[in-house]
Amino acid sequence: MVEATERSRGSYRCPVCGHHDMAAVPAGRETTRIQCSHCGTELELTLTAPDAESFSVNVGERPASA
Ligand SMILES: [Zn+2]
Repeated sequence: MVEATERSRGSYRCPVCGHHDMAAVPAGRETTRIQCSHCGTELELTLTAPDAESFSVNVGERPASA
């Protein structure tokens, strides 16, 4: 069995503003939604591997008013 950890931590890069920051995905999940700590864009982070230290990032819902 895989040792259970509370969260998988890693870094992400916001595709909108290019900001780098840390985030964590809850245990047992592969994706989580956050807001960029710099520009506030909603981002969906996907864990690329169980022991990865980086996430692939997709922009969530687009702002209704751009
Ligand atoms: Zn951003």
